[in-house]
Amino acid sequence: MDALDGNAIAGVLFEVFGAEMTTSAAVCANCGARAPAAELAVYLRAPGTVARCRTCMSVLMVLVTIHERTCVDLRGLDTLEIPASRGPSGWG
Ligand SMILES: [Zn+2]
Repeated sequence: MDALDGNAIAGVLFEVFGAEMTTSAAVCANCGARAPAAELAVYLRAPGTVARCRTCMSVLMVLVTIHERTCVDLRGLDTLEIPASRGPSGWG
């Protein structure tokens, strides 16, 4: 299965975080690689949507929408850097 890039999940990330996330830096908890979310390797039918590190292929994010709720698993991420000026209101 060919990977898409992080732009494929720009819409759902916007829904979850309330901000444009594709330029936010994602840091892999496994290898420490740092890359914009737009450059992650995205698989849309994994099942659910899976975003992997392009360096070590660890799973960084899993997004599953069930019954109009989106469940987000970010345990593979060390850090997701959201610029405060673009974050949801109340985040600074
Ligand atoms: Zn990695």
